[in-house]
Amino acid sequence: MDIIASALSNIGMRKGDSLHIMFPTVSAWDPSLMMSAACKVLGYGSSTCSDTDIAMQMKVMREAGSTHIIGLPSFIYRVTALMGKETDLKTLGIKKIISTSEPLSESVRKTLEEAWGCKVLDVWGMTEMGLACAVECDEQDGLHTDEANILFEVIDPETGKHVPAGQEGELVVSGLNSQGTVLLRYRTNDLVSMQDPPCDCGMSFNKKLNKPHGRIDMQSKVGMGYKVYPLLFDEVLFKENDVVEYQLKITKENYRDVLTFEVETPAPSHELEERIISLVSSVREVSDGIAEDLIERPRVRFVDVGLMEYSAKAKKIVDLRENYD
Ligand SMILES: [Zn+2]
Repeated sequence: MDIIASALSNIGMRKGDSLHIMFPTVSAWDPSLMMSAACKVLGYGSSTCSDTDIAMQMKVMREAGSTHIIGLPSFIYRVTALMGKETDLKTLGIKKIISTSEPLSESVRKTLEEAWGCKVLDVWGMTEMGLACAVECDEQDGLHTDEANILFEVIDPETGKHVPAGQEGELVVSGLNSQGTVLLRYRTNDLVSMQDPPCDCGMSFNKKLNKPHGRIDMQSKVGMGYKVYPLLFDEVLFKENDVVEYQLKITKENYRDVLTFEVETPAPSHELEERIISLVSSVREVSDGIAEDLIERPRVRFVDVGLMEYSAKAKKIVDLRENYD
């Protein structure tokens, strides 16, 4: 809880502020209890809503006088895409949005910042390690690690050897002050790279994590073995405000990979379909595969809003090929 408390005050929460905790459909673990307890210790208010009903989320937030939001970027984006057209979200007076538990794409960050009129900061954490283990500052250039409580290492997942700062590898963490369950050199499965200090915000000692890309097990390979992961497609698809959510299904026809994007949208049209195809084809891993005749032209299937059931940490890339390596 100390780790969450220090993260919230580093983010700039002060007495009188109130945190809205938004983790719908998360039942396997309950971060909200720890977060609301941390708020209590610091004298901040908090409200929790685990409903996927967006109107309900807005109601709870208004009643609590929320000044900060913490939650899954995919859900905060969903609230923004569906409510942003009828409500000016800036009037809610939110000072910061904290994105956690899923990779944050820059296009989602931009959409949220414009709609809510505040900064969106990324946090990396694990329940077992105290949830908020690395927190972005206002510079938005990497996440400050909590080195007082956690030892961070980045290794090559194949060899287990350390990789130098700036090079991507698997994040390994050890708790330095944990009691009860102590994890030592725990392999997180998360792909990250580290950055040496100092930071432009003035912090001169802690190492920073560059923004995490997602988990190793979220990756698939297409074309000539190019690795694709959800953040690549989040980055381009969420530039389209009419894209609420998507899922990519990968199949094979003859020797070519077929990428079918199921897109949840309130405004399906032929033009949107063409724009989506051109956006996803602009991802280098896809365009190279198309040029090499190993990937078909991407396909789009529209799904009405609400039919693609929202679930936290949903699998965004579903690989239906029998074998592809
Ligand atoms: Zn900083």
